[in-house]
Amino acid sequence: MSDCIFCKIISKEIPSEIIYEDENTLVFLDINPATKGHCLVIPKEHYETILDVPEDVLCKVIKTVKKISSALSKTNPGMSVVQSNGRAAHQEVDHIHFHVIPRSENDGQLLTWKAGSYAENESKSIANEIRSSITP
Ligand code: AMP
Ligand code: ZN
Repeated sequence: MSDCIFCKIISKEIPSEIIYEDENTLVFLDINPATKGHCLVIPKEHYETILDVPEDVLCKVIKTVKKISSALSKTNPGMSVVQSNGRAAHQEVDHIHFHVIPRSENDGQLLTWKAGSYAENESKSIANEIRSSITP
């Protein structure tokens, strides 16, 4: 896609610190890292979100996520894998990507959420709503 920054990274139109590349996927350093070594894993074809990407492509991307996690685990005790879809989830770049973020006990990052709770019977109706939305 011509105006996509990650497509431009794939085509080498704009520079990036590429870590790994195969036929279908690319890994490069996030320009504003949450921690040092924060990588982004993307498919080489342009798809916006997890809803758009075909399953076979997604499988290839997740295999690369595992490969890079494995490499990072040699020097980091923990790893957060983060993937956001849509503006409401603060997706900034509309080319599906997985963040692979090296973690250590006191790295100063939160990458977490406030724990919520359900009112009585609320979890049952929410669970039913989700179950009925699953396509076989
Ligand atoms: P998200 O908010 O999940 O869409 O994350 C987009 C990520 O892309 C952010 O963490 C940015 O720092 C990163 N990013 C944006 N432009 C570049 C770039 N040119 N090179 C590397 N990372 C980038
Ligand atoms: Zn793109």
